[in-house]
Amino acid sequence: MKVNAQRLLEDLETLAHIGRNGDGGISRTAFSAEDAAARQWYKDRCDASGLELRCDGLGNMTAGLPGSWEKPAIWSGSHIDTVPSGGSLDGALGAVAALECVRRIAEEDLDLTHPVQSVVFADEEGNYSHLFGSYGLVHGYDTSRLDSMAGREGDSLATALQDFPWRTGDIYADHRIDPGRVRSFIELHIEQGPRLEAEGIAIGIVRSIVGLGGGEVVFIGRPDHAGTTPMTMRRDPTRAAGAFLTRLAGVAASVSGDAVATCGLITLEPGGTNVVPERAHLSLDFRAPDVEQVDALARNVTRIAHECAAAHNVECEMRLDPAVQPVDMDAGIRDHINAAARRCDLSTIIIPSGAGHDSQNLAQIAPTGMIFVPSHDGRSHSRFEHTDPDLLVNGANVLLEALMSLAR
Ligand SMILES: [Zn+2]
Repeated sequence: MKVNAQRLLEDLETLAHIGRNGDGGISRTAFSAEDAAARQWYKDRCDASGLELRCDGLGNMTAGLPGSWEKPAIWSGSHIDTVPSGGSLDGALGAVAALECVRRIAEEDLDLTHPVQSVVFADEEGNYSHLFGSYGLVHGYDTSRLDSMAGREGDSLATALQDFPWRTGDIYADHRIDPGRVRSFIELHIEQGPRLEAEGIAIGIVRSIVGLGGGEVVFIGRPDHAGTTPMTMRRDPTRAAGAFLTRLAGVAASVSGDAVATCGLITLEPGGTNVVPERAHLSLDFRAPDVEQVDALARNVTRIAHECAAAHNVECEMRLDPAVQPVDMDAGIRDHINAAARRCDLSTIIIPSGAGHDSQNLAQIAPTGMIFVPSHDGRSHSRFEHTDPDLLVNGANVLLEALMSLAR
C-alpha cells in the first residue's frame, strides 16, 4: 500500500500558500490569523475524508476516524506553524503526510488492531515557548507558567489562546493527556541539514535528538572616548569577544564531530561608533548528541570565556541556561522504520537530529521515532527550504509502512 502521492503533494502546495509573503517565505506564527487559516484548511481536509478533528486547551489537534478514540492510538504528526518567513516543509511535511497516512488507512478500510491518528502540535516554533504544545501535552503547565508566557511581539499567550478558535476546553485544565492514550509516535520531517543529500541517502532514521545548552557571556570593560583613549590604555570588551568567537569552533570540534556552538546575537553597551564599549553581550547556543558532550561544551565554553577575558584585561560574567538533555529514539520504532524503508526499497542511514522536535517530548510518554528525508543544500527556516517531490513521497511511504506495521 502506498500514499496518494498526488494528493500529498497538492496538499503541501496548498498549505504553502497560507501565510505566504511577497518574498516567497511563509509566516504562520502560532495562534495568528494565518495559523487559524491553515487549521481551517486542515479541518476541511479531515472533513473531506470523514475524519473527526479534536482540539485540546492549548490548540493541539488530533484527527482520527470517528470510532477511534476509545483505544490507545498510534500517533503521527508534526506542526503547521512556521518561523517568520520560513519554508514550506518544516513541520508541514510531517503534519500533511500523517494526515495522508490516516486517510489511506481509512480508504482501505483496514482491520488494524490499534487506531492510527494524525496530530498537529501547537507552536512548535516557540513564538511563546519552544515546542509549546507537545511539552504541555506531555508534562503539563501550571497556571503561573502559562500566564507568564509572551510572544516575540510581547503579547500575552493567555490572551492569544483565549481568543483563538482552534482549541477547546479550559487552557489551564484541558491539555495534559493520559500517557496511556498514545501507544507510539512517529514524526516525519525534513532533515534540515545537508547529510542525506550529500551521501545520496533517501531516508534518515533518527538515533537521538540533540541536547541543547546556551545562555549568555558578558565581557565587561571600561567605557571610554574612542578618540582620546590610547590603544594601550583601553579595557575594551570587544577584544575579548573577538578572541572568544574565533575559539568557539575549536571548542565544538574538541568535544565531538557532531557538536556545534553558535553565537547568533551580539549587543554592545552603551553602543556608539565613537565609544569604547563597556559591555559586550554574546548569546550562546551549543548542542551535542549526548549528555556528557553537552556538559563538556558548557565547561569548555566557560573556560575559554574566562581565558579571553583575562588575556584582554576585562571581566567576564557567564549565565548558562539549564541544559535540555538529548533524547534517544526508541530502538524498536527504529527497527520498524528500517524494515519499512527496506520494503519500500530505499536506502537508510542512522543520524542524529541537530534540531529540536516535538518527538523529544512524545518520547517521554511513548516509544517514539523520527524519519528524515533530505533537505536540498541543508537549507531550512527560510524560503529556500526545498526537497524534490519524489523524496517527499518516499518519506510518506516509509511512514505509512511503519505505522501499519505498528498498528497490526
Ligand atoms: Zn519542525
